[in-house]
Amino acid sequence: MNIFNLKLLHKTINIKYVQAMPTLRSIEKIIVPPPIHWVGDGFKVHNFLPGDGSLDLQRMSPFFLMDYNAKTFFAPSASPRGVGVHPHRGFETVTIAYHGKVAHHDSAGYHGVIGQGDVQWMTAASGILHKEYHEKEWSKTGGWFQMVQLWVNLPAKHKMSTPKYQPILNEQMGKHLLQDQKSYVEVIAGKYHEATGTASTFTPIEMYNAKLIGGGEATFSFPKQFNTAFLIIDGKVEINHSTIETDHLVIFSNEDGDIHLKANELSVVLILSGEPINEPIFPYGPFLMNTKQEIIQAYNDLENGKFGQLEE
Ligand code: MN
Repeated sequence: MNIFNLKLLHKTINIKYVQAMPTLRSIEKIIVPPPIHWVGDGFKVHNFLPGDGSLDLQRMSPFFLMDYNAKTFFAPSASPRGVGVHPHRGFETVTIAYHGKVAHHDSAGYHGVIGQGDVQWMTAASGILHKEYHEKEWSKTGGWFQMVQLWVNLPAKHKMSTPKYQPILNEQMGKHLLQDQKSYVEVIAGKYHEATGTASTFTPIEMYNAKLIGGGEATFSFPKQFNTAFLIIDGKVEINHSTIETDHLVIFSNEDGDIHLKANELSVVLILSGEPINEPIFPYGPFLMNTKQEIIQAYNDLENGKFGQLEE
């Protein structure tokens, strides 16, 4: 509270005011990195979502799955590590590369390689077969590897739309420079201040990387119904004045308020916020549908070759 005197011509009045402090959105949960498991022989991941069952499957809708390969050194390998041909239907896979290179091939005919700082946004929708490997040349030398893969759900009306593939190179991402003139927020999808992302999404999604030097600060504000989480990729940060360690996931309550991020050291934070898809879901294996009947249909279609062809 502050008091100041306003001197007018004939009298002095006292004005009291409370400085408007922005409310902060509270932290609902901080998730420590869950035990490692392997996806194929190329991805050594912490599965944060759907996780160990303690979170509702829809808690982070539209984000259904989050696999995080924390920073890991891979020795050189003559044959690329990865995961062989497998199907998906009903959602999108989004792979964000922090270190290392991955290649993707799918039965819709798309092929792409992403490296450090890039993103691939693959819409499986009505169904594809794909394979995901460490890129061949990278594999031969090996090196540090760090990636996030998200499964982004699609609403029923888009689950059977045509598959597509969006490679998003780092230089295409809109970047908003922060006050210290060195830290910045890069936008994969959505908009932060003037910076926009190039990813086209089926439902409203905000997806950014905050890349901060020590002392760097940024504030974020999302509609309260948007499910929101921050994953600390690198460094140590303060989020709404709580210290959060590397590789931890912070899930925010659905309430009004800002999120304040401050880096204690050189840090990278993945920021996710999306409007929930309020529909029943029926996840099974590599499929994410609305009903059990649709899962049975997916297996029938797979057996009948409707997902196309892809060589191992
Ligand atoms: Mn896959």
